[in-house]
Amino acid sequence: MPDDIFGDPLPPEQRPARKRQLTDRDQRTRLQRIEDCLDYPMIYELAEHLPAPHQVGCPPQYPPLVYLLLASLMPVTGSKRSAAAHLSSDLLWRRLHTAVRRHAGRLAAARLPDTAPSRGQYLYAEHHLLAPATDLLTDVFEHHAVRQALAQGLFPPTAVRTWARPQRRQLIVGDATVPKAPSKAEHPTTLDPATGRLLRHRVDPAARLYYENGETRPRPARGTKWFFASGRDDGYWRRVILTYAHVAGGAYEDEAAVAVRSFTTLATRLPGCMGVVYDGALRGVHRDTLARAGLLAINKQHGSVRPMAYELLRFGACRHDLWCDQGRIAERLLLDDGTSVLRPVPVTRLEHRPGRTRSRWYHLLDIPCRRGNHPHRVPVAITTTPADRAVRDTVTGRRARSDTERGFHRAEHLQQIPEPTLAHQHLYPWRADSESVHNQFDQSLWNQRMISYGLDRQKVFVLAFALAHNATSHRIFQNDRIHSRVPSGAGHGPAPAGPGT
Ligand SMILES: [Zn+2]
Repeated sequence: MPDDIFGDPLPPEQRPARKRQLTDRDQRTRLQRIEDCLDYPMIYELAEHLPAPHQVGCPPQYPPLVYLLLASLMPVTGSKRSAAAHLSSDLLWRRLHTAVRRHAGRLAAARLPDTAPSRGQYLYAEHHLLAPATDLLTDVFEHHAVRQALAQGLFPPTAVRTWARPQRRQLIVGDATVPKAPSKAEHPTTLDPATGRLLRHRVDPAARLYYENGETRPRPARGTKWFFASGRDDGYWRRVILTYAHVAGGAYEDEAAVAVRSFTTLATRLPGCMGVVYDGALRGVHRDTLARAGLLAINKQHGSVRPMAYELLRFGACRHDLWCDQGRIAERLLLDDGTSVLRPVPVTRLEHRPGRTRSRWYHLLDIPCRRGNHPHRVPVAITTTPADRAVRDTVTGRRARSDTERGFHRAEHLQQIPEPTLAHQHLYPWRADSESVHNQFDQSLWNQRMISYGLDRQKVFVLAFALAHNATSHRIFQNDRIHSRVPSGAGHGPAPAGPGT
């Protein structure tokens, strides 16, 4: 289709392969990842928000920092037992001393005992010190993660914005995953069918049944569901996890609501963010909220959306029968044999008009016509209600009915970046990045099962996972700067605001 800003989609055989290749600099051993955590300034800043151990009944010889560092090693080593064992080695306990001296001062390091805490001491501290503070720690984490992302050149506030072709570092990617519950048991006791004896089981009180991939073939998964949002440029480890949240409800809708809330909050902290990439869980109603907040919502059209008539345009002697099809306006053309086809109308511009309280989005169409093409502007992505500012009919001057009064779900039918286009083919696969977050999450779990029982302790683990991930991202970014000797954000246009600015 000529002159369409989104471009024609490529057939499957011509699409570029997206297999991820880890570069040498992105290879990370377990020992390196442990050191990334020990040297991650954010953990030291988070620890300052924790109460003193004696206030919560923990042995006073270990500062809260030690327990938080130990927690961050769990997703690296795969279990609490192995994290505690690693830290108790002379080498790593000395490394921890050195890191504490560097990040928290000589006095803090001098107060540390000669040996690492035991797993039992950690479990006690996890329950009494870390778990009660997870909500506070999550807030502080999000604040710092945004700062880290900006410092690493993501979401540059002053970069050029091309709405039809955003860059990878200008988009947030999100998805939710369900790690398996720590035990398969659903009931605390069962009867052994062979002996008739009562068997006792440990049950995860937080686990419930979720249905993943809700649209096509629902796959049941028992566990707890976690939403992650992240941003990245090129480079696997350079991704920064921006936020995470527990999804309590089992319905697909619940996940989308958590995602939309997280995205809109993040967007206020990341003015350079242009939008989000998400899977089919976002329906029109969710895209509507994101579009009003000035964000692109790049996702797939729901399979149940069918073509529908939009409006019959009359320009003098000619008529153009416009329909909604595959997320955009198409013209219905009658064929000689009495049938009809829907031909997409070229979009010359995706227009974003930011308002004081909400944004508006338009497709500028160039309707092909043998009497000369007709330019035409169509609002997209937002289903207007009577509460929205009224649109006037250009001919009669009367107030036009809102979409909800017309019974037209515009956000479901007209997408900012329609799916069957080259632009969508280019942007949507970045969502696969969230799958690699999940992949890494699964691999961080012993036996690929959640390693803690109960939501409070699992929240500690998910925070620890996000910390450990961002610790490596931070380190890799620092290493790259040392190797290339360029200042933060260089090569990305104007330098973004760094920490402390
Ligand atoms: Zn015409």
